[in-house]
Amino acid sequence: MTEMTVIGASGATLPEAFDGRHLINGEWKDSEGGATFERLSPAHGVVVSRSAKGGEVEVLASIAAARKTFDEGAWRMSSGKDRAAILNRVADLIDRDRERIALIEVLESGKPIAQARGEIEGAADLWRYAAALARTVHGDSHNSLGPDMLGVVLKEPIGVASIITPWNFPFLIVSQKLPFALAAGCTAVVKPSEMTPSTTVILGELLMEAGLPAGVANIVLGYGDPVGAIMSSDPRVDMVSFTGSTGVGKRIVEAAAGTLKKVSLELGGKNPQVIFPDADLDAAADAIAFGVYFNAGECCNSGSRIIVHKDVADELLAKVTALSAKVPFGDPLDERTQVGAIISDAHRQKIDGYVREAEKAGAKVLIGGSDLAVPGMGGQFYGPTVIAGVTPDMAIAREEVFGPVLSVLTFTDADEAIGLANNAAYGLSAGVWSRDIHTCLNFARKVQAGTVWTNTWMDGFAEMPFGGVKESGQGRELGRYGLEEYLEVKTIQLRVAPGRANWVGDS
Ligand code: NAD
Repeated sequence: MTEMTVIGASGATLPEAFDGRHLINGEWKDSEGGATFERLSPAHGVVVSRSAKGGEVEVLASIAAARKTFDEGAWRMSSGKDRAAILNRVADLIDRDRERIALIEVLESGKPIAQARGEIEGAADLWRYAAALARTVHGDSHNSLGPDMLGVVLKEPIGVASIITPWNFPFLIVSQKLPFALAAGCTAVVKPSEMTPSTTVILGELLMEAGLPAGVANIVLGYGDPVGAIMSSDPRVDMVSFTGSTGVGKRIVEAAAGTLKKVSLELGGKNPQVIFPDADLDAAADAIAFGVYFNAGECCNSGSRIIVHKDVADELLAKVTALSAKVPFGDPLDERTQVGAIISDAHRQKIDGYVREAEKAGAKVLIGGSDLAVPGMGGQFYGPTVIAGVTPDMAIAREEVFGPVLSVLTFTDADEAIGLANNAAYGLSAGVWSRDIHTCLNFARKVQAGTVWTNTWMDGFAEMPFGGVKESGQGRELGRYGLEEYLEVKTIQLRVAPGRANWVGDS
């Protein structure tokens, strides 16, 4: 492979642009007519990938392949042991190719290399966990239905799953879905975000190398319209598993309604962290910085809404602001960088718009609130930002900013804190900081959120289910619930002894 030097602060050399094609029925395909789209590195401002741009032809062919493969039955009827063997092989190949995958993830998303490596390692763990689950698919039996009846409840794969993913954790999120769908015995059509398609293409290469039969997992590259829209409405698809914005999630529900497909949604968040006066403020401050600046705040779990007790607000804010000033921003290819670039210039403008609007509404920017100039870099960066004096009526208190911007509100008693925490259309995750377990549990039970972190933030485990309530989504990923999403229940009732009463009567 020829290499070119990129003018980045780290002086790294980058491989030539990655060429991505569709994976349809086990074959790599260009788009009809040769249409492609390019991706610029958000940090370096150079073209890093060129992908086939899917249209109706490619998405319909992919759905047809997934449908035919499912209906022919070899994959859905295969043993959990055989499916697990393939998923484990994929995990091993992900480990083998970790550096290559991480580099492309960095170049397309702008996230720091060390964190991209962690994401790839986490993804391999999910493939292994799903492999173990593949051998646990089972239903139920009923032998108390009477002397001559036996009831059998089967868990069967739901069918063809459309999997649509966002750009913020591309390789991790496809790995929260696809291995679980495959473990269940489903076939799939996968569409990565148009911003970050390439690591999903690499995953396709690894699936083929691991021996996944043709047609079981198909990958179409391209935009929400038409690719994602057709994947959500086509009658041959049985279920849509989507991670992305709440707005697009609602459109997917509408598109799927025509054929009453099951829809599983992992959407946005405006996640509160409540800090009680007895909390360990140093630990809380560090977790707050991590929660809001990790992945440049482009994180569904961003802990971007701090609700702090009035008595400790000044002390906590002083600590958070001091940490914000020290966060290592910069070239994501530099090993020391903790926060990289913003995904696109349009998104940078959206983040800045929220900050300007909050200022106009009377909030106070304590630090940041503007673009960050990173010497030698051609992309876009936004400074770590803390905004105090936020009130519940401000947009920045309720809407997802998806950037490195912290909004701070204050409270005086627990009921007010819980009321403020629940005052959002979202309900993805929430946090509580206190040394009193009763305070933590009281909050955990009353807050409307899919996940509650107590005295910690954003830990994740393959075993622990993840998902949201309210407008943060429906359904769960990870844990055994992640497998259940892709399973359907079938009831079989067996007469095991002759003598069924004749309904019409003897002639
Ligand atoms: P997005 O909704 O813009 O796009 C997500 C995916 O949907 C992309 O692949 C896109 O091409 C596709 N899409 C766009 N329009 C479509 C349509 N009409 N029909 C079908 N598919 C369509 O989201 P994004 O900007 O890529 O990601 C950021 C959002 O994702 C944030 O809101 C974030 O909170 C959310 N997110 C949620 C979780 C979670 O687990 N809850 C995790 C990561 C990201």
